[in-house]
Amino acid sequence: MTVTAVDLGIRKKPEGEKILLIEDNPDHAYLVRKSISEALKSQVDMAGTGEEGIAKLKSGNYDLVISDFNLPGMDGMEILQMVKEFNIDVPFIMLTGQGDEKVAVSAMKLGAYNYVVKDDVCYTILPRVISETLTKYRADKEKERFEREIREKSEALEKANQELKKLDELKSEFISSVSHEFRNPLNSIRESVELVLDGVVNANEEKGRRILEIAKTSAERLTILVNDLLDFSKLEAGKMKMEKEPADIKRIVQDAVDSMRPLAEKKRLKLEIVPPTEKIVVFADPLRIIQVLTNLISNAIKFTPEDGRIDVIAEPFDDPKPPVQKVKVSVKDTGIGISLENLSRIFERFEQVKQPHRGKTPELQGTGLGLSICQEIVKLHQGNIWAESELGKGSTFIFTLPRYR
Ligand code: ADP
Repeated sequence: MTVTAVDLGIRKKPEGEKILLIEDNPDHAYLVRKSISEALKSQVDMAGTGEEGIAKLKSGNYDLVISDFNLPGMDGMEILQMVKEFNIDVPFIMLTGQGDEKVAVSAMKLGAYNYVVKDDVCYTILPRVISETLTKYRADKEKERFEREIREKSEALEKANQELKKLDELKSEFISSVSHEFRNPLNSIRESVELVLDGVVNANEEKGRRILEIAKTSAERLTILVNDLLDFSKLEAGKMKMEKEPADIKRIVQDAVDSMRPLAEKKRLKLEIVPPTEKIVVFADPLRIIQVLTNLISNAIKFTPEDGRIDVIAEPFDDPKPPVQKVKVSVKDTGIGISLENLSRIFERFEQVKQPHRGKTPELQGTGLGLSICQEIVKLHQGNIWAESELGKGSTFIFTLPRYR
């Protein structure tokens, strides 16, 4: 009578699996093959020795290997060892002789999935053992995959948590530094007003005017700070609207440079425009691009010692990835430069690079938000922004914008 997998109560019949049978005895091999092919739809490949079996396992993709223990040369245990050594991921069934329980136990310990004692009924039960082994192996693989996924997900979660924690710390640092930034100009306004109110200085006289000028500069500084903060929170919430229109980049650069010229002249800095050789029209919000440029020029002024030079260059640029015609605008200064380590951080939110002389010169104080705002605005125009610099050798801040067609 032919025993089928269904008769044996196997729920899912293996289909089309490639099985390697390592067996030197042709009669046994014949019977094993016969029992498998009658009950299962698996394809059975043969190897007469351990060496041949390993060679086949290395070159072919087998779903299961059945190996006799007693073989000439390499025995079943050695084959199993080699399978492990070569990292061949395949379920292994050991065929042991009667009374060879020790071999069976050792084989299982070494990683065999199952064993079958070679007796009269072994050919009858082999198809069931194969099915069970494949089911267990697949369940184990599934479990491994699941565990790996859980591990990867919890690692990603842990990473996200760390990042949130870092952001939280930066936000706290930021609040504290912004509070300081507010305190100085506020104190200066209060003291100036007190001096006038107490009659220590007269607002109509030179000294009084100078003191009120200081208060005015401080109030202006506070306005810039508040505007930066409002812009930043609008950008973070995705609520900043860009009023895009076709605009001549030469005009935008000219407007930005004109507004910054008095500040540059105060420091005797040469501020020059290198205009494009052809007319370049961008599709952009001119006021926002002017904001980006004034921010970059203001930084260049802040970080360039007196008698230095700042060039604002606009030129056509063919972006290869993806192929788009753009304009490239660079703000190049001969200032203090930025170290390689800090260069990668300056665009990050809340990041402020500790400059050795930050804090001593009032004009060097900032919120550390300027460049993040510039980056967000440029991104909203489908452009890129980056910086190239070397400590002590000046910096170039570059951004690109797509051209209007
Ligand atoms: P901040 O308001 O502090 O200037 P930004 O975001 O505009 O903030 O700039 C971040 C940091 O990048 C600055 O603190 C400064 O250290 C560095 N940086 C920006 N522009 C320049 C520049 N042209 N030269 C040297 N350092 C610069």
